[in-house]
Amino acid sequence: MDATLVLFKPDGITKSLTGNILTELSEARLEIAACKCVRVSKELAEEHYKSLKNESFYNELIKYIMGEYHKKKVLAFVYWGDDALRKVRELAGATNPEEAEADSIRGKYGRITTRGIFENVIHASSDAKEAEREIKLWFEPDEIIFDIYPTKEDEATVKKRAWA
Ligand code: UDP
Ligand code: MG
Repeated sequence: MDATLVLFKPDGITKSLTGNILTELSEARLEIAACKCVRVSKELAEEHYKSLKNESFYNELIKYIMGEYHKKKVLAFVYWGDDALRKVRELAGATNPEEAEADSIRGKYGRITTRGIFENVIHASSDAKEAEREIKLWFEPDEIIFDIYPTKEDEATVKKRAWA
């Protein structure tokens, strides 16, 4: 059993593909262990894509995932189950939507922009180490319905917003 971070990227949200992508992913018979809407900050975007910092497309990629070109919204999910990483990557298809299988999510719905960015609708973790890093970056332990990774008690009192 493994867990994978899945993001419905801003292009997918703006194109009203949420339902379509959920249906495609349901093929894998996995469990959704967490989900939420996120407004992506620059800090979160940069941490998520830190391994691509030296790529020529990095600055555009940060703008893309922050929703500069679409709705400023990402849907974040943890999918969990047997072979989840591989299954979701397969349903997602290749990074380049032109090279992705025609019936994969990216093959069906992705495009390459004139700025050269692959707007490929969905993010899926590449391996177990990345999945752990990404899930811990995007989610707090209590946002996931069961403990995927070990947790600890945290006594710190953090200032947070509450309902007025
Ligand atoms: N990307 C791009 N051009 C490239 C490679 C990547 O625009 O030549 C974008 C694309 O949106 C991709 C993201 O950067 O999904 C992260 O790249 P990565 O190589 O991690 O691909 P992924 O794991 O998403 O398939
Ligand atoms: Mg990747």
